[in-house]
Amino acid sequence: MQEDIIRVEDYYNPEIFSEIKEFSDSKETPFVVIDRRIINDHYSDLVENFPFAKIYYAIKANPGNEILSLLRDRGANFDVASIYELDKVLNLGVSPERCSYGNTIKKRKDIRYFYEKGIRLYVSDSEADLRNIAQEAPGSKVYVRLLTEGSHTADWPLSRKFGCQTDMAVNLMVLAKELGLIPYGVSFHVGSQQRDIGAWDAAIDKVKAIFDWLRDECDIKLKMINMGGGFPANYLTRTNDLATYAKEITHYLKDDFGDDMPEIILEPGRSLCSNAGVLVSEVVLISRKTTTSLHRWVYTDVGMFSGLIETLGEAIKYPIYTERSGEREECVIAGPTCDSADIMYEDHKYGLPNSLEIGDRLYWFSTGAYTTSYSAVEFNGFPPLKQYVIG
Ligand SMILES: *Cc1c(COP(=O)(O)O)cnc(C)c1O
Repeated sequence: MQEDIIRVEDYYNPEIFSEIKEFSDSKETPFVVIDRRIINDHYSDLVENFPFAKIYYAIKANPGNEILSLLRDRGANFDVASIYELDKVLNLGVSPERCSYGNTIKKRKDIRYFYEKGIRLYVSDSEADLRNIAQEAPGSKVYVRLLTEGSHTADWPLSRKFGCQTDMAVNLMVLAKELGLIPYGVSFHVGSQQRDIGAWDAAIDKVKAIFDWLRDECDIKLKMINMGGGFPANYLTRTNDLATYAKEITHYLKDDFGDDMPEIILEPGRSLCSNAGVLVSEVVLISRKTTTSLHRWVYTDVGMFSGLIETLGEAIKYPIYTERSGEREECVIAGPTCDSADIMYEDHKYGLPNSLEIGDRLYWFSTGAYTTSYSAVEFNGFPPLKQYVIG
């Protein structure tokens, strides 16, 4: 169980971590602390590694105002999924030209709302939606979302539900033109926390085929590729760093498009925010199910319904840090609610120190994305997961 020993320095600059810890010591658990300096660094990293790309932040990863305003000040654009997210960013002074409506599933009246607020860039993956866009957001730019494979190598797949096959994508772009819209480009999302860089290669090849077909057969010149998110964060399962992703993906783009490179959009969520967050929790109870049981159950004051839903199917394995040390024993880790689905890790048994006691704090690393935004409102009366922002 050596691999379960989580060391701070593998995940955070130790000085920053001690600031986070100091800040958190006086606060009642559970909560997430976000350090904006880390998001800022990740943003710089992204811009340096993809100098040719426009960044559209996927707000759902972490919609905290302090995070949105940081990214606003850094010049980011925003991938908006609902009228509520739209109001949020517009209220922070982001201009509508910096927003896209990136959800393929939208009510007609919400399209109208976006259009009235000035948004002119829309995604679609179906005829019915495209016709709604043509009516409610006339003359806008539309890009079509492709179905992608490779879900088995993404820890949190976004396949099946979104996008359409190549033939449909071509037809939709042709129809967009007929309906008076501007057929603008193609998007895909290879799946969140995508560990296989080759997934981008396959998707870019498909995009290239669509670009060529539309140019040669339909006299439509697309201008943009939206490569979505999928870039990784540091969890228990390690991945390549962003520079490696960028190098490979740039190479795939050059291979297919050469000097005729379209406008490139990226929509990062997880890779910007995850590593900036530490979720601080407390051990509520430790027990065994039989007197001879070889493993303990550790119940914490945070669970599936208070921010850790991405542990569903044990998909995302967060590094869990404790200040206790010494001999370790395999543990099942579960949340505090009266629902038996509220078990985070049972197959993968984390090794936690035998010296761990009720009342000790557990620090869940890399929890800056998809935690607070996923937290339930009032299950068993527990309030939504709190977020503090420092830095
Ligand atoms: C969720 C989402 C993203 C962000 O994906 P990450 O893997 O978190 O970077 C980007 N684009 C779209 C359309 C999404 O739905």
